[in-house]
Amino acid sequence: MIYLDHNATTPLAKEALEAMLPFLGDEYANPSSAHSAGMAIKQAVSKARGQVAALVGAKSTEVIFTGSATEATHMAVLGALRALAVSAPRRRRIVTSAVEHPSTMALMADLKSLGWDVVIVPVGTDGRVAPVDIDAAVDDHTALVSLMWANNETGVLQPVREAAATARKLGALFHTDAVQAAGKVPVSLAACGADMITLSAHKMYGPKGVGALIVAKGAPISPLIFGHQERKRRGGTENVPGVVGFGVAAELAAAALAAGDAARLGGLRDRFEAAVVAAWPGSRINGAGTERVPTTSSIRFATASGAPANGEELMMRLDKAGVMVSMGAACSAGGNEPSHVLTAMGLNGAEAEASLRFSLGRPTTDAEIDGALDALSALVERLHAAA
Ligand code: PLP
Repeated sequence: MIYLDHNATTPLAKEALEAMLPFLGDEYANPSSAHSAGMAIKQAVSKARGQVAALVGAKSTEVIFTGSATEATHMAVLGALRALAVSAPRRRRIVTSAVEHPSTMALMADLKSLGWDVVIVPVGTDGRVAPVDIDAAVDDHTALVSLMWANNETGVLQPVREAAATARKLGALFHTDAVQAAGKVPVSLAACGADMITLSAHKMYGPKGVGALIVAKGAPISPLIFGHQERKRRGGTENVPGVVGFGVAAELAAAALAAGDAARLGGLRDRFEAAVVAAWPGSRINGAGTERVPTTSSIRFATASGAPANGEELMMRLDKAGVMVSMGAACSAGGNEPSHVLTAMGLNGAEAEASLRFSLGRPTTDAEIDGALDALSALVERLHAAA
């Protein structure tokens, strides 16, 4: 199997698994217990908190562990709105982009239906939000700006520093979903100027079911889940094995970044894209020409006549050939809607559905890229012969 779907999830790092195992066995005490067994677990959770904080240049006290990135984003947005409802009730506007992850888009749609002034900033054909459009959308009634760091379908990097500066200037909070950026490009709370950052363990070779919201000191957010844990900011006994695995995964991600693995993967990705474009006339890289994370390739395929190819069929045939890829978020959960990310970039429905996402990861090798290219070229011949 050639797994090129690392943006969907990553394999659990061996080191993370090994670190987790004791906490699924004998090390079962509750980190909130005052006895020595509990204290030992609390220390393990604290260590993980430091490891996750270090990945994004934050302090341990700024890390709130959650059950997922989806939960972290809900906590960021709803927690900020709850806090501001008391301290700044006139701030009723929320600014976000047209290409956010569905976990953000669905929340924004709900807030809009509840009467919040949700402004969705468009992207250009390159998939990037223009900072001037953020400037135009944010006013002094804005409570929060939420802009993802890197897009999960195209890998396109968003102008988060500029957006954070705009938000700050107008007294609004700034949140970024850095799930697809952390470990792939440097992510720093301070350098970005963000108030809140969403992270997910399972996108960086940690376990599923654990995420984090990084909240800069002083940023006002109210809890959504009450309880004494996480310094009263997120109730519920911590998922200790998950948190420990997340910590190790974060440390490994920082080490891989420092060792230049991103450059190796970027080289593989570029070679892959160049080969596909050369072999398959009419194919296009979605988001080409703008800054992207080095691991993601969203490619729109065309038939010999130049018409959009059937992406779903291509994906199935690649699957049969042992190559796991994804259609971005298109047709997820069995729906028939084309990707909102690709249509926001100006693709029509057929073009969006002719697009496949290839996402590389730390385990991806040169030989696997060759294997994926071989599988694709067999399909190209078949598709073009049929056209
Ligand atoms: N945000 C982005 C950009 C993602 O790619 C994902 C995962 O698909 C999520 C959020 C949700 O992550 P989780 O599965 O931890 O809720």
